[in-house]
Amino acid sequence: MSNNNWESFVRRVEPYVPGEQPTGTDVIKLNTNENPYPPAPAVRKTLDDFNCGRMRLYPDPDSSVLVNAIAEYYNISPSRIFVGVGSDDVISMAFLTFFCSDKPVIFPDVTYSFYDVWADVYRIPYQVKPLREDFTIDPEDYKCENGGIIFPNPNAPTGVLESVEMIEDIVKANSDSVVMIDEAYIDFGGESCLPLIDKYDNLLVIQTFSKSRSMAGMRIGFAMGNENLIKYMNDVKFSVNSYTMNHLTQLCGAEAMKDKAYFRETTDRIIATRERSKKRLGELGFTFTDSKSNFIFASHKKKTASEIFNKLKERKIFVRYWNKPIIGNHLRISIGTDDEMDRLFAALEEIVNE
Ligand SMILES: *Cc1c(COP(=O)(O)O)cnc(C)c1O
Repeated sequence: MSNNNWESFVRRVEPYVPGEQPTGTDVIKLNTNENPYPPAPAVRKTLDDFNCGRMRLYPDPDSSVLVNAIAEYYNISPSRIFVGVGSDDVISMAFLTFFCSDKPVIFPDVTYSFYDVWADVYRIPYQVKPLREDFTIDPEDYKCENGGIIFPNPNAPTGVLESVEMIEDIVKANSDSVVMIDEAYIDFGGESCLPLIDKYDNLLVIQTFSKSRSMAGMRIGFAMGNENLIKYMNDVKFSVNSYTMNHLTQLCGAEAMKDKAYFRETTDRIIATRERSKKRLGELGFTFTDSKSNFIFASHKKKTASEIFNKLKERKIFVRYWNKPIIGNHLRISIGTDDEMDRLFAALEEIVNE
């Protein structure tokens, strides 16, 4: 109808599709890797004590209370920490800051499905590298010319953990580009690459409060690296939006970080439930990787993933399924409470024996 041509100047992109957020009370939600336990008790107290009048004021643009709490926890300088509104915000800022080359950024073919979306929206060229048959990464694939590297460790949605030695090998071989390790699930039994930031100025380690700290709804993520990397990220962040993280979130995040005992207790409980779940899934005829995260990536010997997914959904049990090459016969099952997992196993027992 119109002669106007504005649509040819639109930044078009195929958006990321987040996991379903079903509503209702009798739903068992094992589809987005949320933590089944509430945040640390001090977070509740922070909410109770919050002075609503403080909302008049802009938040601290540097999120200092939160940055300092993270710095104390990891015993590193606050100048080596960048915080953002979930690690999605942190990684997006990191793409914008560091992936600014004509050479392709590289990541695995099976990985967090947001990476290619950020690359597309920022017009960053990228190339995917196939995982091996057992879903491990071949470090040799990451020793070509590139404009940057990113992968999660443990990887998502496979749960496969790579060793710090192997990652160091990749970081060392890529001194001309920034290597980002997305450690969204590292607290569930993996060894963090954080100590490597002392040795390598091109390594950025990214973590989140969404999984191991039970705060997906508050949106807190952070990156740690060489002071110079962090400075560049802050320059870009302050050029887009300086007040990203709200005041209340900063306070709650700092309190969550301080309670080490609660953090250890809840992550240990999830690890124990995960290991018990592996045994039970094995008995039910599933095969799976040796996940070191808060989910299990499983496929069944007889029933297809899509059939199991749909039949679980009929029973109001939500897991994650992607109708995609390579992973199309797998389900990603988040680790819930012991009770939720028992209800899942009872449903699976019916479904696989039909
Ligand atoms: C969950 C997840 C994120 C995003 O976490 P938020 O902090 O909630 O934005 C990033 N990377 C991976 C691999 C994840 O699984």
